[in-house]
Amino acid sequence: MIHSTDDTIAAIATPIGEGAISVIRVSGQEAIKTVSRKFLSKTNLNNVKSHTAHFGKIINQMGDIIDEVICVVYKMPNSYTGEDTVEISCHGGIQNTKKVLNCILEENVRPAKPGEFTFRAFLNGKMDLSQAEAVADIIHSQSEKGHKISLHQLEGELSKKIFELRDKLVKATSLLELELDFVEENIELINAETVEEIITNCLAEVKLLMKSFFIGRIAKEGVSVALVGIPNSGKSSLMNAILKEERAIVTEIPGTTRDFIEERYTHDGILYRLIDTAGLRNTKDLVEIEGIKRTWNIIEKADVVIFIHDATTEMLPEENSFLEKIKTASAEKKSIIIANNKIDLLKNVTNVEHENLSNIEVFTSAKTLEGVENLVQEISRSIFTTDKIEIGETTIITNQRHFQALERTKEQLESALTSIKQKKSEEFIALDLRGAIDSIGEIVGLVTTEDILNEIFSKFCIGK
Ligand code: GDP
Repeated sequence: MIHSTDDTIAAIATPIGEGAISVIRVSGQEAIKTVSRKFLSKTNLNNVKSHTAHFGKIINQMGDIIDEVICVVYKMPNSYTGEDTVEISCHGGIQNTKKVLNCILEENVRPAKPGEFTFRAFLNGKMDLSQAEAVADIIHSQSEKGHKISLHQLEGELSKKIFELRDKLVKATSLLELELDFVEENIELINAETVEEIITNCLAEVKLLMKSFFIGRIAKEGVSVALVGIPNSGKSSLMNAILKEERAIVTEIPGTTRDFIEERYTHDGILYRLIDTAGLRNTKDLVEIEGIKRTWNIIEKADVVIFIHDATTEMLPEENSFLEKIKTASAEKKSIIIANNKIDLLKNVTNVEHENLSNIEVFTSAKTLEGVENLVQEISRSIFTTDKIEIGETTIITNQRHFQALERTKEQLESALTSIKQKKSEEFIALDLRGAIDSIGEIVGLVTTEDILNEIFSKFCIGK
């Protein structure tokens, strides 16, 4: 995909649809000259100052007036892309916007590919790779907290942290390499502890960043909550009760097949994805077996599992064994909440408390909504107390690519520490450190491959 950057590109930067205005972005060496040829106005865009807005009419090749517009001119390097840019605000609507864009494309201008403006911004040093990714994250953010983290990332909070860590590692490596130069002369310039100390500190910070990924991922993608239990325990009813309580914006999952039902709500700025699953039971019915298989897949992937039990009955041996299996299927970070449902049918709620269960238990009625708000609170508490990281307190990573780069950095730092302990020669240690420096540099794009760049920018929308 890596496109040439010496040509001029244009695209509609606002959503396609009916709106008061649309914005068409034109960027590149010829941007101002090109637009000025199509801009009928008392102002010549070639002579205006950067960051100024001008009224005029867009005309096509034949000289016909297409629309009345405002052109905002940005001169390099003070634009989003770092190149000369004109943003044309025209009247909204699909037909009109496309016509205006087509007038610009009549000139020597090519339609921009997805993410190409941001790609140019990255190439021109306007932002590093993690900031470019934050642009996409902001556009796609689905919750208040996710948006907040992405904004911090765009402002360079993560980049700053990464550059600091990288600088420390570069320092440690140069100390080692200096040592290597003098080794023949038998001069010891630094003691191993200094290098060891730097590496140990960096390793701790890398681990902390990795730990933040749990919360970061949740803030970005939402918390997946699986509602499970034997048939008729009240899974669907409880799902509706939670959605009613939370006044959910009910959205369907994209895609064609609906093997299970997923609905969303937000609570305290975090998105929750509630998944209603096929009832668990021992059965010989082939279709049901398939459904139950999928339920187990969902359980494995979910952040929180709510096991719904009909409180009007005893806990069945079958239910106990499902609960055991859920615990085994769950990763360590998973929270399991037992919801004793249908308490409206009980006279005395305390009768149903289960002894010897180490899980969080709540009592609900999907019918009267009693206890439902408490269940919502418990879901949120179970996620945010398993990990003490508070959003806003520390740098949080939300991106799988960053997590993987940190994972490699961690391994290389650990290997360097082992080499130091084993008193291996400086060359070995320096080699690991060089690897760690490269790995951590990938996050901000100091080290990239075409594949990485393609992967990142292809996810953008056109016009960004
Ligand atoms: P699922 O098979 O687990 O999804 O269970 P449903 O949500 O379909 O509920 C099974 C039956 O229990 C339905 O008749 C519901 O109306 C009823 N039910 C569910 N929750 C409650 C509750 O809290 N109180 C009462 N009284 N009935 C409930």
